[in-house]
Amino acid sequence: CGIIGILGNEPAGPRVIEALRRLEYRGYDSAGIATLDQNEIFRARAPGKLKNLEGVMANVATPGNTGIGHTRWATHGAPNETNAHPHIAGRVAIVHNGIIENFRELRAEMEAKGRKFVTETDSEAIAHLVEVELEAGKTPFEAVKTTLPKLRGAFGIAILIKGEEDLMFGARKGSPLIIGVGEGETYLGSDAFAVAPFTNKVIYLKEGEWCALTRHSINVFNETSEQVPYAIDTVQGVA
Ligand code: GLU
Repeated sequence: CGIIGILGNEPAGPRVIEALRRLEYRGYDSAGIATLDQNEIFRARAPGKLKNLEGVMANVATPGNTGIGHTRWATHGAPNETNAHPHIAGRVAIVHNGIIENFRELRAEMEAKGRKFVTETDSEAIAHLVEVELEAGKTPFEAVKTTLPKLRGAFGIAILIKGEEDLMFGARKGSPLIIGVGEGETYLGSDAFAVAPFTNKVIYLKEGEWCALTRHSINVFNETSEQVPYAIDTVQGVA
């Protein structure tokens, strides 16, 4: 339902919570965060209010300046901790808004390759698809590029990869996603409100577009993965 992604220069944990609070108006049944630090993925999730997630984060470390967060409005699978995003498969952590309509086929395909699924969500398949490509020796960029055309349905997605603390991928199709442009920082958000505490400069991804971000670079691609230009808008009055 709500997405935030941060490639920042200060601890991501509190900033992810701050952004998710901005997205509360959308409604949600659970929330979660994943951060990258020292070649590890850290994760905290909780059903119910953001306060519950903050309670978990008081006891579970989420270090690092790179993080993604999600507020979930369950479509597939009960609103419990296991089904809360982010979902992790190997080195890959993802958050997803929308519905992956062909998730049953994708899941069967991944399970046939030996991948073990732990949630009831449609979203988890995305993480496994990227991980399988990484295992096959693809670069993170190529792994994401190969995965996106396999997804049917509606999605806004943010992807982090363990060991890649200066890299984040975003994709949108039938569900909004924006890039936030900061000073030596970049962000992803399901809308401009999410990144308003950090920047008022945003790029509205168009239908079918996806992006590869570092703190100092933004590359946007269309549905056939050709690089496309983008415009940075200045949003008034959302901070
Ligand atoms: N379909 C996904 C799920 O049920 C994402 C729902 C959402 O947009 O929050 O977990």
